[in-house]
Amino acid sequence: MANLVTNVAAAVEEHGDNTAIGFRGEETSYDEFWAQTGAFATALNERGIGVDDRIALYLPNVPPFLIAFHGTLRAGGVVVPMNPQYKSREISHLLGDSEARVVVTLSDLVPFVTAVQDETSVEHVVSIDGEAEGATTFEAFLERGEPDIVDRADDDVAVQPYTSGTTGQPKGVQLTHENLASNATAAAKLVPDGIRSDDRQLGVLPLFHIYGMTVTMNAALFNGAAYYPMADWDAQDAVSLVESEELTVFHGVPAMYNDVINQPNADEFDFSSVRLCGVGGSGIPTEVLRQFEDRYEPMVYEGYGLTETSPITHFNSPIDGRRVGSIGKTVPGVDSKVVNDEFEDVSPVEEGPVDEDEADLTEIIGEIVVSGPNVMKGYYGLPEANEKAFTEAAGTTWFHTGDVGYHDEDGFFYVVDREKHMIVTGGYNVYPREVEELLFEHEAVADAAVAGIPDDRRGETVKAFVVPTPDADVTDDELREYCLTNLAEYKHPREIEFVEELPRTTTGKVQKFKLREREETAEAETN
Ligand code: ATP
Repeated sequence: MANLVTNVAAAVEEHGDNTAIGFRGEETSYDEFWAQTGAFATALNERGIGVDDRIALYLPNVPPFLIAFHGTLRAGGVVVPMNPQYKSREISHLLGDSEARVVVTLSDLVPFVTAVQDETSVEHVVSIDGEAEGATTFEAFLERGEPDIVDRADDDVAVQPYTSGTTGQPKGVQLTHENLASNATAAAKLVPDGIRSDDRQLGVLPLFHIYGMTVTMNAALFNGAAYYPMADWDAQDAVSLVESEELTVFHGVPAMYNDVINQPNADEFDFSSVRLCGVGGSGIPTEVLRQFEDRYEPMVYEGYGLTETSPITHFNSPIDGRRVGSIGKTVPGVDSKVVNDEFEDVSPVEEGPVDEDEADLTEIIGEIVVSGPNVMKGYYGLPEANEKAFTEAAGTTWFHTGDVGYHDEDGFFYVVDREKHMIVTGGYNVYPREVEELLFEHEAVADAAVAGIPDDRRGETVKAFVVPTPDADVTDDELREYCLTNLAEYKHPREIEFVEELPRTTTGKVQKFKLREREETAEAETN
C-alpha cells in the first residue's frame, strides 16, 4: 500500500480547481494546497528530516495544520497532534515521549515550547502567525519544491495522537497508514454517495483529535470536497458559517448540538443547505437529538469510536435504517462483540430491538471489544498498557474499548457508559448516562452530568450537576423527586447542584474527574 497522502494526490489530480480550504473568506484550491504541502515536505527534506521523524502540530484548526499534516506524510514523517490548550508541563511529556524534531505552532504558544525545548529533541520551532523569539516563521521555513511522495508500508505509523490522560499519563497511540486508510474507506460507505466533491464540510471539531482529523478533514480532502476550519467553537459563528457558505456536512460532538438548540435565536437558524449531520465522541442524549431534528431538517447520524480505532467502529447509518439511541452496526471490515469478564460472548436475549424497560440488562451487558484493520498498532513504548488493551482469542486480536454496552439480534449496538464512570452505591451499580438522559428530558435542564461522589455509608453516592435553562424555575427537591418517580430508588441523585457550566474537554466530554475532585476539596475544607 502507498502513503495515506496519495488519497489527497488523487483528489488533486481529479479536482485541482476545487476549493480545498475555505478560511475567513479566503479560498485555497486543491492545486494550491498541493503546492503548499510540497513546500512543507521539501522544507523537512532540506533539513534532513523525513522518514519516521515526528513533527508535532501544536495548533488550533487553521490552514497551516492541514498543510503541515499532509506535508509531513508526503515526506514520510509521523504527525504528532497536540491540544493547543496544553501548556509547557503537558507538552513536555508529549514532545519528550514522541521525540519530535519539529513543532509547528502559534506565536503565542512558542514560549511554552521554548521553555521545555532543552529537555526534548525539538530542533525547529515554527510560528505560523508572525515572529516569536526562538522560532522561525512559517514563510521562512517553507522551501519551494515538488517532492515525490515517500513510499510507506501498511504497518508504518502515520499519526501518533495522545490520549487525553484522564487515567494517568497520556499514551501515544500509533496509527498506521493502513489503520487510517481502511477507516476512511469504511466511513465513505456509510452514507449515500459518501462524501462528494461538491460537499462543503464544517471543520469545527478539533484537528488534534481523531474525530476532527479523519472524519472531517481527511474525509473532505480525500474526496475533493471543501473543508472550512474554525479555530474555536461558538454556536453563533458556526451557524453563520453554515448559512453563508451553504455548508452541506455538519459534524459535532453532543455538547455542540446542545449548544445550538439552547441559543436564544435557535428558531432562526437555517440548516437547509446541510445534507448530512454526524455526531460522536460521547453519547448524544436522545432528547437533544430529537429537539435538533424537530427544529431543523437534517437527520443526525451517530457514530462511535476511539482514538485507538482510527476512530469509527460503529455507525448508525441511514443505509441500515437508523435506530435512535443506538450507536448503530459495526462498520464494514470491522468486527465487534460484547464480552463478560471471562471473555465469553454476551448474547442478545431476543429478536429485534432490546426493550430496556423489560430486559434485564445486567444479563446482556459487557465490555465492547473490537478487531479490524483500523485498530492501532499499539501504544508507543508501553508494553504493559498494550498487554491490558488487547486479548488474543481464537486467532483474533481484540481491543478492549473500556465501554460497557450490549447489542440486539439485528446487530445494533448500544453504549451504556464508560466502565470507569460506573458508580457503585450501596452495592448497586449505576450508570450515570441513564440518569443524565432522564434529566435532559426535563424542560428546566439545559445541561447535566452525573458522577459518583465519596460517601461514608454507601461508598459512593449519585450526584447530579445541572445547568438550568435561563428562565427555569425549579428547585433541587423538585428535580430529585422527578428522578425518584422515574428511576429505581438507588439510581436517583441524592444530591443535586445547580452550576453555571460543566467542565468539558475541547472535544466536549464532561471532565467527571474534575467534578469529583471539586467535591473532595469541598469536603476536605468542611472537615
Ligand atoms: P481518554 O481515553 O484518555 O480518556 P478520550 O476520552 O478523549 O481520552 P477518545 O478516544 O476520544 O478518548 O474517546 C473514546 C471514547 O468516547 C469511547 O471509548 C466512548 O466512551 C466515547 N464515545 C465515542 N463515541 C461515542 C458514542 N457515540 N456514544 C457513546 N460514547 C462514545
